[in-house]
Parts: sequence; C-alpha cells; structure tokens
Amino acid sequence: MSLLLDQVTLTYPDGDGRVTALDSVSLAVPPGTLTAVVGPSGSGKSSLLAVAATLVTPDRGRVVVAGTDTGTLDRAGRAALRRTRIGIVFQQPNLLPSLTAAEQLVVMAHLSGGSGSGRGSRGAARARALELLDAVGLADQAGRRPHQLSGGQRQRVNIARALMNDPAVLLVDEPTSALDHERGAAVLDLLVMLTRARSTATVLVTHDRAHLDRVDRTVTVMDGRLSEPRPRPLRL
Ligand code: ADP
Ligand code: MG
Repeated sequence: MSLLLDQVTLTYPDGDGRVTALDSVSLAVPPGTLTAVVGPSGSGKSSLLAVAATLVTPDRGRVVVAGTDTGTLDRAGRAALRRTRIGIVFQQPNLLPSLTAAEQLVVMAHLSGGSGSGRGSRGAARARALELLDAVGLADQAGRRPHQLSGGQRQRVNIARALMNDPAVLLVDEPTSALDHERGAAVLDLLVMLTRARSTATVLVTHDRAHLDRVDRTVTVMDGRLSEPRPRPLRL
C-alpha cells in the first residue's frame, strides 16, 4: 500500500474549543489507483490531503507513505519524504512567472538536490522535464511561460511538475475547479492515465462529481468522517 491513513483524527483550535476536521479517518490507496474524495465545502477534504502530505500532523492515528510511518519522522525527515515520495498539486498552479514550462519542472529536480548539480544531472533533469511535458500533452509548449499558456495548460504543467521526482503518492486538490466541463474531464482522464503509467497512489479531491465513473474508488467526506456511499458494482 503506497498510502495508508489509519484512524486519523485532526482537530484545529477554534475559539475556546477545537473543531474536528478529520474524525477517525482510515483510507488505503494501492499504487496505480486513483481514489476520488468528494464532499461539501468545509467537510475536511483539504485536511485529509494535508495530513497525507505530512504538511499537518494529526492528533491521533497513523499516516504511512511508501512504507514509512510518518509519525517516526522529525520535521526534516517529513520534508525529505515530501521532496522524494510525494507529489502535490494544489488548486492554483503557483507557477513562477519568469520560467518556461520546462524550467518549472527542472527547478523541482534542483530542490530535491540528491544527485548533485553537474552537467549530467542537469541534462537528465531537463530530459525528464521534457518527457513529462510530453506525457501531459505539452511537448510543443515547453518553451512557453505561464502567461503564454491557457488555464488548462497551466494545470497540466502543475501536474507534470508534481511528477518530476517520481512520487509514490500523488495528492491533487480540486484541479478542475477553474476549468470548464470539457477541460475538467480531460484533466481527470490525464490523472487516471498518469496514475496507471507512473504507478502512483493518487488521491483526488474534487467538487465535480461528473466523470467519476473513470476513477477506481470514490469516497465521501462529511463532517470529517469518511464513507463510501454505495459499494462498487461488480464487473462481470
Ligand atoms: P474542505 O477542503 O472540505 O473544504 P477543510 O479541510 O479545508 O475542508 O476544512 C475542514 C474544517 O476544518 C472546516 O471546519 C474548516 O473551517 C476547518 N479548518 C481548516 N483549516 C483550518 C485551519 N488552518 N485552522 C482552523 N480551522 C481550519
Ligand atoms: Mg478544500
């Protein structure tokens, strides 16, 4: 199992008391599968991703990423795990305005350090960036800067960037919210395809219930509790 949440409870301070954002949530996501998380605003969807991303430490429960119990890691250990094993796609692409699409990805390889900054590794990072841009359908846009790309294209760069370090876990928060229906469907198809091709354990938070027949599993979050509304139909 590439991602495992086991009885995770997360609360935030709220005035004199605390608000429960996640209430004993358990979720297992195998590699090469995509789980969609739906639910009303404020139900805990982003909190679930933040915990899975090790950006927030839960009050109780275990978060296991690619075999590592994140509760055993210190701050630096969690940051290293994020750089090497976790890809995160936020709602807003947050691309750097002055960089080309390819450079947005190459920067990620430098941030993760590792194999040095010699000519060879720089060339390898650039080759990987171009390969990923090709995988998201942007091979001919590699030299463009964000203002020269459409909203959908920027979101594709965002997704390609999250895959730069070959993550085991891919966490995606409402990637289609700023896109029209058709472009939203294309991004969902792309995420399903990449999940299979790169064997990521993907969790996708979405408002958009359309097209969810394409994903492996859909769970609903309501008041911080996870449920699976109806069992998956048997494929005969
Ligand atoms: P969703 O993504 O489904 O809209 P969130 O996970 O953002 O929901 O929020 C779940 C609950 O936790 C909400 O009640 C929200 O107000 C609260 N919450 C989220 N983040 C914080 C925070 N940083 N501080 C305090 N409360 C928060
Ligand atoms: Mg949210």
